[in-house]
Amino acid sequence: MPDPVLIHFNDALADELGLAHQVLGCEALIGMLAGNSAWPGYAPIASAYAGHQFGAWVPQLGDGRALLIAEIATPAGERREIQLKGSGPTPYSRGLDGRAVLRSSIREYLCSEAMHHLGVSTTRCLSLIGSSEPVQRETVETAAVVCRVSPSFVRFGSFEYFFHRRQNEQLATLAEHVIEEHYPHLIGLPDRYARWLTEVVERTARLMAQWQSLGFCHGVMNTDNFSVLGLTLDYGPYGFMDRFRQHHVCNHSDYEGRYAYSAQPQVGQWNCSRLLRACLPLLAEDTQAALEIGTGIFERYAPVYAQAMMRRWADKLGLFEARESDTELVNGLLSILQRGKNDFTRSFRHLSRLEALSDVPAAGIREEITDLEAFDAWIVDYRARLRSEQNTDDAARAERMNRVNPKYVLRNHLAQRAIEQAEQGDYAELAVLMSLFRRPYDEQPELESYAEEPPADQCSIEVSCSS
Ligand code: AMP
Ligand code: MG
Repeated sequence: MPDPVLIHFNDALADELGLAHQVLGCEALIGMLAGNSAWPGYAPIASAYAGHQFGAWVPQLGDGRALLIAEIATPAGERREIQLKGSGPTPYSRGLDGRAVLRSSIREYLCSEAMHHLGVSTTRCLSLIGSSEPVQRETVETAAVVCRVSPSFVRFGSFEYFFHRRQNEQLATLAEHVIEEHYPHLIGLPDRYARWLTEVVERTARLMAQWQSLGFCHGVMNTDNFSVLGLTLDYGPYGFMDRFRQHHVCNHSDYEGRYAYSAQPQVGQWNCSRLLRACLPLLAEDTQAALEIGTGIFERYAPVYAQAMMRRWADKLGLFEARESDTELVNGLLSILQRGKNDFTRSFRHLSRLEALSDVPAAGIREEITDLEAFDAWIVDYRARLRSEQNTDDAARAERMNRVNPKYVLRNHLAQRAIEQAEQGDYAELAVLMSLFRRPYDEQPELESYAEEPPADQCSIEVSCSS
């Protein structure tokens, strides 16, 4: 990569990884993070995988523009894989250029860190390198490389790859590797594959509940973008919803709305069914027996998701107990927000100002609500629900709610502003966002405007698969 420039370095993550600070600013490090030189002691690896893309089977994908460059142990004794994205062609590039543009690299860099600090399971980013190298997309843009960090980048599609090729031995080798490295409590157990898959299914269900509760839409939930560790992986045309819409589709290339907000939980489940199908040969020699075990594992998804989701909605409403009947309360609020085109993140954040014992319309909560009649009726039910569990310490509840209802999410217009500046060589806004999203649940009065809805002309910034 010509003229690599270090645009941002994630010092906090470098500290967690135990990477010596002195290396920052040193030419050799920038060369490694740009993919121009190898990490000492390692030869880079690109992985093969397959996947279901928008429901269609694609037998040959792989790290077309990603390279695993090292595996390190953190001071806490955990293993982390270091991967570059956009460092050039690999054996799996399928004729594409192996590059990523600055725009999409900034989006991945910002969002993976924002998600981490929101408490969502995710891969992380260590560095962002820019370059003068031109890259052709819809227009000519410039290339960039992000350095991603994760315990593992193995995907559902990694297993589908070997299953499709009837390479059961490799399938088992990969499963053993994942278990040994990442599910060590299962090592050597006779039913370890079934238990491991059960954990993957449960983690995926919980991840979907995390996404839903934050209004996060992934955009490209293909099985090659699903992690066997239940991490959010591959940030492309994602989006945090501004105005709440059940059928919000964040990816403008997703013409059929396959990955709409409302569809995400079911897609997560369907992806698990693809993983389980690929792993049937691991579950039992007899096909029927394997199918029965696989079906049993699959059936874990729905109850785990339902329970996790119920708990998260209850937390967002500041409730101690999550009750089945709260679904009605939640849906009531969501439909008020949807009908009134109200902001998802702001509306939940404002709810913490409610006084449980008062009967007057709640100040500071209703100002932005459009359908006030329905909302005031909803508040009556909500207050009754709070009182039913003696949940009347308003200050304590507000504090709890503000730890789960973020003040700041990475709205598209915020990322877009940082991108436009960076494309002019000014990285200040990117640094502001990186610092802001370290504390998304805290009030940061000097950055109040970052919690606002997008200006009217920036509500529909288009993000697509082009990256
Ligand atoms: P993505 O939509 O980024 O998840 O990519 C889907 C697949 O296409 C993956 O196998 C990528 O490695 C590959 N891919 C996407 N863009 C490129 C590119 N510019 N060069 C090489 N491979 C790519
Ligand atoms: Mg991908």
